[in-house]
Amino acid sequence: MRRAAPVRAIADVPAREARRVVCILVDGARHDVLRDLLGQGDLPNLARWVIEPGGMAVGTTVFPSTTGVAYIPILFGRYPGLANVPGIRWLDRAGISGGAAARWRAARSYCGPQAPWINRDIDCGPSLFELVPQSLAICTPITRGLARGAHLMPVRRAILGAAAHYLGSYGALDRAVANSWLAVAARPWQFLFVVFPGPDGLTHLHHPTHPSVLDAYRQIDRALGEFVRRVRRSGDLPAFFVVADHGASAVHEHKDIALELEAWGIRTLRHPLHVWRRHPRASVMVSGNGCAHVYFPASSGGRTPRTEAQLPAELLARLLLLPGVGVGAYRDDRGGVMVARGHSRARLREDAAGVTYEPLLGDPLGLGALPLSLPDRELLESSRATQFPDAPRQLLQLLSCARSGDLVLAADPGVDFRGPWELPEHRSGHGSLFAEHMLVPIAASVPLPDAALRTVDLMPTMLEILGAPVPDGLDGVPFSRLATLEGALA
Ligand SMILES: [Zn+2]
Repeated sequence: MRRAAPVRAIADVPAREARRVVCILVDGARHDVLRDLLGQGDLPNLARWVIEPGGMAVGTTVFPSTTGVAYIPILFGRYPGLANVPGIRWLDRAGISGGAAARWRAARSYCGPQAPWINRDIDCGPSLFELVPQSLAICTPITRGLARGAHLMPVRRAILGAAAHYLGSYGALDRAVANSWLAVAARPWQFLFVVFPGPDGLTHLHHPTHPSVLDAYRQIDRALGEFVRRVRRSGDLPAFFVVADHGASAVHEHKDIALELEAWGIRTLRHPLHVWRRHPRASVMVSGNGCAHVYFPASSGGRTPRTEAQLPAELLARLLLLPGVGVGAYRDDRGGVMVARGHSRARLREDAAGVTYEPLLGDPLGLGALPLSLPDRELLESSRATQFPDAPRQLLQLLSCARSGDLVLAADPGVDFRGPWELPEHRSGHGSLFAEHMLVPIAASVPLPDAALRTVDLMPTMLEILGAPVPDGLDGVPFSRLATLEGALA
């Protein structure tokens, strides 16, 4: 679904029209569910105040496609691997040989007491909050750069968030977000970041089109309508962005990679209770739960990831052929990335001219049987209709991060990588590299370019609208530049 406005309309927005921006992050919103509800007339405020003046596109998120990690592109304009945060769980190789406390710290998990550490682990900046001092945020796990008191309802988020996780009371959490949002309509602010966790949380408990999930979308739409009503009293409407951080799909089978390794006699460090294991032969860190980083002990005891020749070949082959493993990726010995899907193999590498996809055996990413070498945005266009939208870029960015596993696995549709012991059991999930997890709605009340969009493009786009400086070195490209082919390739 796309309603792109004329390209000139974007390129011609003069700087003096600096406006206020509201970014509404509907965690885990699926683009097709949103489209169906819009078609039924169930989201009249999204249609009237966002899509009618602007448009809605289906964009791509990052891998791992999971909450927190997938907020980094929106708030920092960077990919998670390049921000040095490769998952909601990852292993700090340097800490694993230390004492019990060091080992607990090394087995990083942003699901629990270490959750705030994501702010200091992000190894890039500045954040959108730092660049726009009059920022307010509601219910976000990433708060870096917010002024004191600008993170609204942090205590209620902690209490209602924990209750929602264990009791399913996401309606109460989203209502608190909506009330907090409405309460600041008349306050001075320039950038407002509003996160609704309900659709994602309820999807995990049920499935992406469960009535409670659909009601969560409708509740958010009503809050948007009320916010517009209030904000219009005090002046012009801000620019609205309504986006998701990842998609979701139903899980029919749990394939716990760590327990598989244990069954093969491989002593494996894992969450939640086996993070203190001494001398593990493998460590498994799961995100989403459709992504797993697998670490093997560094031969030197250091923190350098292993490349292909240093990986345990037999174990690698066994893991890649495990039912439920959709895609595996690891660093080759020449600075590139090997992609595996079953027995098929391809090599990815990047140079100044762009990204090269070289199929070696079969065609794991469905990009064709012949070598392909394209500039970044052209490869995005070529890959977005495949089963793995934007996979070349996403695997390159993730494997460039030294904190990523020696092997990264993406689950097949219908499968996740943690056992049914997880409380509450995930009946749906995300995190993987498949289209159902990678495609996200990007709706905006400003015109959208007729080009493939990534969530990483949102930050520079919002900064331009806000009249704030766009830092150098971002991974995203503002919509104004994507409006022309030259701009996209620059
Ligand atoms: Zn989730």
